Amino acid sequence: MTTVAAYAAPAAKAPLERTTIERRAVREHDVLIDIKFAGICHSDIHQVREGWGEAIFPMVPGHEIAGIVSEVGPGVTKFAVGDRVGVGCMVDSCRECDNCKAGQEQYCASGNIGTYNGMGKDGEPTYGGYSEKIVVDEDFVLGIPEGIALDEAAPLLCAGITTYSPLKHWNAGPGKKVAVVGMGGLGHMAVKLAHALGAEVTVLSQSLRKKDDGLKLGADHYYATSDPATFEQLAGTFDLIVSTVSAPLDFGAYLGLLRTDGALVNVGAPEEPVSLNLFSLLGGRKTLAGSMIGGIRETQEMLDFCAEHGIGAEIELISASEVNEAYERVLASDVRYRFVIDTATI
Ligand SMILES: [Zn+2]
Ligand SMILES: [Zn+2]
Repeated sequence: MTTVAAYAAPAAKAPLERTTIERRAVREHDVLIDIKFAGICHSDIHQVREGWGEAIFPMVPGHEIAGIVSEVGPGVTKFAVGDRVGVGCMVDSCRECDNCKAGQEQYCASGNIGTYNGMGKDGEPTYGGYSEKIVVDEDFVLGIPEGIALDEAAPLLCAGITTYSPLKHWNAGPGKKVAVVGMGGLGHMAVKLAHALGAEVTVLSQSLRKKDDGLKLGADHYYATSDPATFEQLAGTFDLIVSTVSAPLDFGAYLGLLRTDGALVNVGAPEEPVSLNLFSLLGGRKTLAGSMIGGIRETQEMLDFCAEHGIGAEIELISASEVNEAYERVLASDVRYRFVIDTATI
């Protein structure tokens, strides 16, 4: 066991504070990672505040982890000391169900084991990236290519794969019109990735406040959803809409923006159930779908794609002591576009 410094919420809704946690000794197939950077994801806040249900405390959030391998177990074949690596939202799964065998560990029939707020197979709670070090089985560790700075790579491990996976699954590419709802941590990555995939990209944001950024990051068009004319003007336009917002939307209105056979895919997770008039799906054979992160294989594919296209996240680097203030700013949509903790400051 190794004792490492971390930032943790001692109880639900409590502010995060500096503490120490134990990391397990490196096992046969484990990799010990010196964490350099940890992104702040909106879901960290949902979980610290128990917005998604009962959680495990103390909680060390953080599932956008980038660092350097400092030790490997004797059975490790994929990584060596000194490698640049990342860890995303999961650290294990059953590995035996159809989804795991297909490389879709995020949809493991037994439930994947979350990087934090989860229970490991050893019966110990998992602790996330707001810490100095983490020990992870090599099968759930990703290689970060040289082409991406580690701080800008961290948010790719959740925000990047969460948007890449549905874009690929629903065939975003040349000749396709893709809309991204929301210009936050997830949204700005969706814009960059959809553009790099060759799609024509439209941002649908509440206001035009971030329009210049959106166009700079690769959007071809930018509309305000607070303007009712947007919904008339864009009716029947898109092949794919990726909604990154975690507030409930007027789904009927957004479905009206799809072409026949179009899909509206949610990657944000509102805390409350939503209601929908199903007629908005019938006319035009439309799909309302959801998508959750991505498998390990696809996450590596995404990182390689980002390196090839020079894509990293737009970040604001903060010290660990600023984390509570950062949470408030995330809730106020006051970040461009992802906070990343420099873990050397923990
Ligand atoms: Zn996340
Ligand atoms: Zn499984």
